[in-house]
Amino acid sequence: MVISREEILEVFHGYSRDEITVATLGSHTALHILKGAKLEGFSTVVITTRERDVPYKRFNVADRYIYVERFSEISNEEVQERLREMNAIVVPHGSFIAYCGLERLEEDFQVPIFGNRRILRWESQRDLERKLLRESGLRVPRRYESPEEIDAPVIVKFPGARGGRGYFICSSKEEFWRKIGILKEKGLISQEDLENAHIEEYVVGTNFCLHYFYSPLKDRVELMGIDRRYESNIDGLVRIPARDQLELEVEPSYVITGNIPVVIRESLLPQVFEMGDKLVEKSRELVPPGMIGPFCLQTLCNENLELIVFEMSARIDGGTNSFMNGSPYSFLYHGEPLSMGQRIAREIRLALEMDMIEKVIS
Ligand code: AMP
Ligand code: AMP
Repeated sequence: MVISREEILEVFHGYSRDEITVATLGSHTALHILKGAKLEGFSTVVITTRERDVPYKRFNVADRYIYVERFSEISNEEVQERLREMNAIVVPHGSFIAYCGLERLEEDFQVPIFGNRRILRWESQRDLERKLLRESGLRVPRRYESPEEIDAPVIVKFPGARGGRGYFICSSKEEFWRKIGILKEKGLISQEDLENAHIEEYVVGTNFCLHYFYSPLKDRVELMGIDRRYESNIDGLVRIPARDQLELEVEPSYVITGNIPVVIRESLLPQVFEMGDKLVEKSRELVPPGMIGPFCLQTLCNENLELIVFEMSARIDGGTNSFMNGSPYSFLYHGEPLSMGQRIAREIRLALEMDMIEKVIS
């Protein structure tokens, strides 16, 4: 059973409201989550290991530290107890969910989190993600049920936290099986990976990862910033002339190593806002109370200027690191360099002031 909002509100009612701490795991987007919280007047705590505390110390964004031996311990009862003692609201990011485990976060993690706990499953299960995107009326790449159907360029993806390793592109079933053979021989994929392979249309276009914030308090979808991915080895591979690439015989991979801020052609903004609005509206119906706070649509813009969504994050996405000091878009709202982390903290502060915390935590 997913922990109910009522249970979490009960935990929150035991909190000292003047002493709220914003907490997260030391990875992913913790720097601007914590910095943003401090700027909004909250105290901050980072959960980390001895080996990984360096950025939080060097940038001095955490008031306190909870040390664990391994990241997977973040959902342990002692850690939860300490967080509750600190009146903590946890901001769940990609690594937090990965290390806590979705099930434990849903069923055992009895600490208030910012956002809708139930919607996290919808980003991590491909079928649910696709359902939400499609029913929202967004364009998604065509999906192929089997390699036999391949009749155009496709990208083949493998599941799990492997993050783009072993992905490849092909345009026929023969090429599919030949490349699978090579990857297996090199030990890059297993039989199990093969059984879970996901095959979808390869969209030739430019990458825009759109970072939105839905404020339940203002009932407003804000565009906070846009990044594009910097991936290894593909972004290095394209610096090698085609002739030499063929000689080298390196397998491409799409492992995220960084993010680059970008702005989108202004005439595409109506489409961008429409997409965010539609997703927020549909999620309200499919996963009540719907999207709360940050979310991200990872898109490719084709030559017909259509934005095609190949992935969604129903929480803060790593690409928000590209605008820790604000983006051109977040500047437009507030006339100040606002990060996603600070935007989250501001919503928490506003919810406390308006006595409407139930709108933003679960
Ligand atoms: P993902 O693991 O789905 O986030 O994809 C990793 C990377 O693969 C993306 O950042 C893109 O560079 C590329 N990619 C994913 N899906 C597609 C697609 N349908 N068409 C073209 N490139 C894609
Ligand atoms: P890490 O804690 O760095 O191992 O990240 C865990 C997962 O979060 C990765 O596998 C990525 O899917 C995602 N992630 C981490 N950093 C970024 C980033 N800068 N941009 C996009 N996704 C990221």
